[in-house]
Amino acid sequence: MSESLDAFARHKLAGLESAALRRRLVPTARGPAAAAERGGRTLVSFSCNDYLGLSHDPRVIAAAAEALARYGAGSGASRLVTGNGPPLVALEERLARHKGKEAALVFGSGYLANLGIAPALVGPGDLILIDELGHSCLFAGARMSGARVEVFSHNAVEPIRAGLRRHRGSVRRALILTERVFSMDGDRAPLPEILALAEAFDAWTLVDDAHGLGVVEPGARAPLEMGTLSKTLGSYGGYLCASRPVIDLLTSRARSLVYTTGLPPASAAAALAALDIVETEPERAARPLALARRFTARLGLPEAQSPVVPVLVGAAEAALALSEALEARGFLVVAIRPPTVAPGTARLRVAFSAAHSEAQVDALADALAELAPDKR
Ligand code: PMP
Repeated sequence: MSESLDAFARHKLAGLESAALRRRLVPTARGPAAAAERGGRTLVSFSCNDYLGLSHDPRVIAAAAEALARYGAGSGASRLVTGNGPPLVALEERLARHKGKEAALVFGSGYLANLGIAPALVGPGDLILIDELGHSCLFAGARMSGARVEVFSHNAVEPIRAGLRRHRGSVRRALILTERVFSMDGDRAPLPEILALAEAFDAWTLVDDAHGLGVVEPGARAPLEMGTLSKTLGSYGGYLCASRPVIDLLTSRARSLVYTTGLPPASAAAALAALDIVETEPERAARPLALARRFTARLGLPEAQSPVVPVLVGAAEAALALSEALEARGFLVVAIRPPTVAPGTARLRVAFSAAHSEAQVDALADALAELAPDKR
């Protein structure tokens, strides 16, 4: 024990800095219409997951303000004690209906939902099969469960079949973890094939719908559908939709629900108002994907499958430099670097919103064509 805490931190930071992997918290004031103020400049942000621009919708803000005034700023306790305010209960009913499920459970965040779900359903002696590009919190929940975790190559179905076959008879339960829309690549899992396989082997499937809800056609529904309130719904929080017995079990067993304070009522009320808008304004919900496709067509990239489009750069330094060059032209497109993405696949992750105009999308595409002509 020779190293001081600060010396350790400085040493680690220097390593991150020299690999262009140090992260910084940059003060960013988001406004309506995809505006983001940084360092005194107002930029057009293509780095928000507010796909429908609902975080600034006056109806969403009014719903949050009303709940805030009526129920207070915080929930006051775990949901199982006194932190289960009326907006949370109403939101669960609406989420379940939206997803065609019997019931829903609202968590403090999507990350907390994924930390709670797998460990409540599987454990030592069970099997988890997870897509290699699954979100960090899917991996965290999988590892916390104590089940055997096998990683399959991105969107491949055969390794799932092989894994289920290999362990048939030796594990009690098998759980497949994937995403409807992958957060950093914007592509979509082959859910019909995966769900058919799961059924054939009596395995269970959890689909993370964080980036799909409200902005892509869901296609097939998994028995376990989780997601977040923080992207299309413009608020904060997470959820799981499933059958009534599964939700009842999770209510007793998911530690990230039982031992943490309930989501603030205002966040639930905002998400509920946003869900209303998602359901009643389909033309708005279709817009981010249409804009993403306009962008990929203009740059000659593969057609967008979701509102998320990766512009692959490769080296972390180069991704940072491209992001900075775009920022100088008024666009905020944050560079995504390892370990969020695999080494050598640093990129700009471009996220489209109903709040963007066609002219803004075209201007970004043209700036990229000029700054990174090999990307077209
Ligand atoms: N799953 C995926 C696929 C995500 O992208 C995210 C957020 N980045 C989460 C879960 C976590 O959701 P939250 O932000 O609500 O914690």
